[in-house]
Amino acid sequence: MSTVPIAVFTDLDGTLLNHHDYSYAQALPAIEKLKAREIPLVLVSSKTQAEMSELCAELALTSPYVCENGSLIVMPRVECQRLSATLEGAETKDDDYLIYRGANRDDIVEILAALKQQFSFTGFADMSVQDVVDCTGLSEQAAVNAMTRSASEPLLWHQDEADLNEFAQQLRKHNLRVLKGGRFYHVMAACDKGDAVRYLLSLYESYYGARVVSIALGDSPNDLQMLKAADHPVLMPHPDGTYMHDDGLENVIRAPFEGARGWREGVEAALARLI
Ligand SMILES: [Mg+2]
Repeated sequence: MSTVPIAVFTDLDGTLLNHHDYSYAQALPAIEKLKAREIPLVLVSSKTQAEMSELCAELALTSPYVCENGSLIVMPRVECQRLSATLEGAETKDDDYLIYRGANRDDIVEILAALKQQFSFTGFADMSVQDVVDCTGLSEQAAVNAMTRSASEPLLWHQDEADLNEFAQQLRKHNLRVLKGGRFYHVMAACDKGDAVRYLLSLYESYYGARVVSIALGDSPNDLQMLKAADHPVLMPHPDGTYMHDDGLENVIRAPFEGARGWREGVEAALARLI
C-alpha cells in the first residue's frame, strides 16, 4: 500500500460516469491503480442503494458507499470486519450494515404532496418508470432501481430561482432542504455528502491510527461539501467545458475532461501530489 493512508471519494454522474452514456470504461486504469495500492474508493452519489450496489459489484469494490446524497451509508460486512469498526445505530441487511442519516422518503413525499398546491414540480413519486427512462436515458431496470429510494426525492423544478428559494424556505420548516444535482433537484434531510465523507474518514483514521489524506471528485453543487471535506478536491467540468462555481475551494485540481476520461486524469493528478 501507499506510505500515507489515502482514501478517494467520488461522485458518479458526470464524474466517474460520463454524463451522456454513463460509461466508466476510460476510468478503469486509475481504478486499478487505486486497488493495487489498497486505496479505498468510496462512491458517493445521489443514486440509490439498488443502483450503487450493482455498480460496486461490477467494479469489484468492497469499500463502503454513500447513497442519496449522504442520507444512507452502506458498509459491507466484510469491510466493517476488516476495519474493526463499531457502527452505532446501524441496521443489518443481507451482507451490509446500513447507516441512515436522513429523513424517511415516505414522509418527504407526503410533505411534497402538500406543497404541490403552491409550487410546480414533478417528483419521482409523480413519474412512471417510462417517464424516468425518458428524462434520464436509463434502461427500464436502471430506472426502477433509481426509483427505489429510502431517504430523498428527486424532482424536476418548473419555476424560476426566486420560487425555488421560497420552496426551500417552506421545506426548512419540515427540517428538509433542496440540493441541486446534475439533472434533478433533491429534497432530503439536512445531511450531505460532506458529513458522510467525514464520518467514513474517521472510521479509516481509527483503523490506520493516522490521519488519512482524502481526494474527492465531483461536478455539481451537491458535491461541494464533499469537495470541501477533502484535502485534494478534483473539480470535474460539465459537458460544455464549464465548471461549477467552486465557492473558494482550496487546493483544487480541475480535471481536463468531463466524465470517466477526466476522472482518470484527475485521480492521477491528485495521486502525483502524494505518491
Ligand atoms: Mg454529478
